Amino acid sequence: AKEKGKGRAQFYEPVLSGEILKRMAMEHALRQALPRGELYLVYQPQVCTKSEEIMGVEALLRWKLEDGRPVSPADFIPLAEETGLIVSIGEWVLRTACRQAADWERRGLPLFKVAVNVSPKQLVQNRFVQRVAAILEETGVQPERLVVEITEGIALLNTAETIETLQGLKKLGIEISMDDFGTGYSSLGYLRTFQVDSLKIAQSFISRITVGAEHEGIVRAIMAMADSLQLEVIVEGVETEQQLQLLKGIAECLVQGYYYYKPLPPEEVTAVLEKQAGR
Ligand code: C2E
Ligand code: CA
Ligand code: CA
Repeated sequence: AKEKGKGRAQFYEPVLSGEILKRMAMEHALRQALPRGELYLVYQPQVCTKSEEIMGVEALLRWKLEDGRPVSPADFIPLAEETGLIVSIGEWVLRTACRQAADWERRGLPLFKVAVNVSPKQLVQNRFVQRVAAILEETGVQPERLVVEITEGIALLNTAETIETLQGLKKLGIEISMDDFGTGYSSLGYLRTFQVDSLKIAQSFISRITVGAEHEGIVRAIMAMADSLQLEVIVEGVETEQQLQLLKGIAECLVQGYYYYKPLPPEEVTAVLEKQAGR
C-alpha cells in the first residue's frame, strides 16, 4: 500500500501542480470575466493601399483581470473555444461591436465596415442567424456594415448546416470573410462553397515576404486568384514600409497591420476617423 501511495503521488503531482491547475484556474476566472466586466474590445483599422483611407476595422477581444493584468488572447481564446464559453462571449462581442458601429454611424463618420471574429461553435449554435438579426435590429446597425470573419475550421463542421447559416447571414446583407487564408485546409472550393466575399491573407506569409521569393509568389498567386473570383483581399500583419511597397507592387488591397495602426480603443478610432473626415 505504501508503494502504491508513493507511485500515485509521483503520478499526480507533477501533472496537477502544473498545466492542469493553471488551466482550471483560468477557466474559473474566464467564466466570471464577462459578468465582472473584464472583457472589452479594441479595433484595428484596415487601410486601403491606394487611397490610404480607413475602410474598416476588426474588433479584437481583450481580457484584463481585476488587478489589471492582461491575459493574452492566444491563451484565453482557445480555452473559451474548448469550454464552449466562446458562444456567450462571442454574442457579447457581436453586440458590443454593433453598438460601437452604431455610435460611429450616429457621429456621421464615413461608411466603413466592422469585422467580428465568429467561432465555428457560434455558427452551429441554434438560430444563429436570427440572433445576429436581433442584434442588428436592437442596435440599429445596417447589415452592410457588418463583416463576419470565419476560419477554415468551419470546413470540419456539418457542411449543409454551415452553408445554410452562412447563406442566411448573406441574405441579411452581412459580408463573409475567410480569415487566415492559406494556413489551413482552405481551397478554392471552400471559397465558393461558403460564398465568401473577402479573404484575409495570413500574417505568416507577410512576415517573411521580403526574405524569399517563395512567399512573394504565394501572395501574388492568392491576389490573382482573389481578383478572378472578385474577392476583396485584406493583408494582415504588415509591419514595415518594405512589406507595404512590395504589396503595392502586386495589387491594390486593404492592409491591417502595425505599419498603419495597432488595435486601438474605440475613442482613438473615433479620433482618427474624425481627422480623416476633416473635422
Ligand atoms: P486574428 O483574427 O488573425 O487577428 C489578428 C491578430 O493579429 C490580432 O491578434 C492582432 O492584434 C494581430 N496583429 C495585427 N496586426 C499585426 C502586426 O502587424 N504584427 C503582428 N505581429 N500582429 C498583428 P490578437 O488580438 O492577439 O488576437 C489573436 C486571435 O484571437 C485572433 O487572430 C482571433 O483568431 C482570436 N480572436 C480575437 N478576438 C476574438 C473574438 O472576439 N472572437 C473569437 N472567436 N476570436 C477572437
Ligand atoms: Ca480575424
Ligand atoms: Ca487573421
